[in-house]
Amino acid sequence: MIAPIVHTVVEVRAAVSRARSMGLSVAFVPTMGALHEGHAALVRAAVRPASFVVVSVFVNPKQFGPNEDFAKYPRTLEADQALCSAAGANLIFAPNANEMYPDGSVTFVDIAKLGDGLCGASRPGHFRGVCTVVLKLFNIVQADVAHFGAKDWQQATIIRRMVRDLDVPIRIAVEPTVREADGLALSSRNRYLNAEERAAAPGPYRALLEIRDRAAGQNAPALEADLRERLSAIPGARVDYARIVDAATLEPIAIVDRPAVAAVAVFLGTTRLIDNILLGP
Ligand code: AMP
Repeated sequence: MIAPIVHTVVEVRAAVSRARSMGLSVAFVPTMGALHEGHAALVRAAVRPASFVVVSVFVNPKQFGPNEDFAKYPRTLEADQALCSAAGANLIFAPNANEMYPDGSVTFVDIAKLGDGLCGASRPGHFRGVCTVVLKLFNIVQADVAHFGAKDWQQATIIRRMVRDLDVPIRIAVEPTVREADGLALSSRNRYLNAEERAAAPGPYRALLEIRDRAAGQNAPALEADLRERLSAIPGARVDYARIVDAATLEPIAIVDRPAVAAVAVFLGTTRLIDNILLGP
C-alpha cells in the first residue's frame, strides 16, 4: 500500500485519531527526508501487528546554521514516499515551514549544556532547533513510541532527556546505525561526496573500530588523541571533533570504566560526516 502524504497538522491529527479509534497504537519516525536504508530500518522497527506508523519529512530551518546546507539539503519526497511505503509506513506528514512555524512563533526548547558539546560546539543552536521541532512533532502526532537512530547519538540522548524533563508521554526507541558494506554510516549527506571523498569516507568508522577493541579501562584523553591522529591521517579529512564521553550524560570521562561513546565529526571537502561507536568498560 502506498502511504498517503498529508501536509497539515489537522490532517495528520485526523488520521491518527482514526487509527486510534480502530484500536491501533501509533509509532512515529521523524526525518528530514532524502530517505535511505537507515530510515527504512527505523520504519521497519516501528511496524507492529496493530500499529499505525507515521513518518514526518521536514527539513527544519531552525536546526541549520546560517552557513550550513539548508538550501541545498536534498528534497526527494516522491522517492521518500515509495521507501516509506515499502517499509510499512501508513502515513507521511510533510508540512511546509509555515505550517510548522506560523508567523509569530517565538517559543523554543532549550536543553542547556547537553546541547553545547560535540555537534553543538560546531553547530550553535542546532539542538535547540532539533528539540523544538521534535517536541512540536510529538505534540502533533501524539504517538506512543518514536524511533531514532544511534548514528545521531547526541541527538537521541538529548531527546530522551527532553522527554524525561518535560514529562512528554512517549517512549523513545533507539535503533542501530545502518552502514554501507564498507562501514560508512548511511546519511542523506553522503550524496554530496565526490569519488575521492567517498573512497575516504569509511575511514572514520575504521578508526572507531580500531580504538574500540582496546578501549576498556584505558585513559580516555589518550584514546581521544589516538583517535584524532587516525582521523587526521584519512586523505582529505579535516577533524571537527573526536571525543570519548559518558554514553548517558555526554560528559567527558577520565577512564573508560563505564558505558561510553566515542563520537567523531569529520569534514571531507565541504561535507561533514558524523559517526560513533559504543565502548564498554
Ligand atoms: P535525518 O533525516 O538525517 O534527520 O534522520 C532521521 C532519523 O534517522 C534520525 O533518528 C537519525 O538518527 C536516523 N538515521 C539517519 N541515518 C541513519 C543510519 N545510517 N542508521 C540508522 N538511523 C539513521
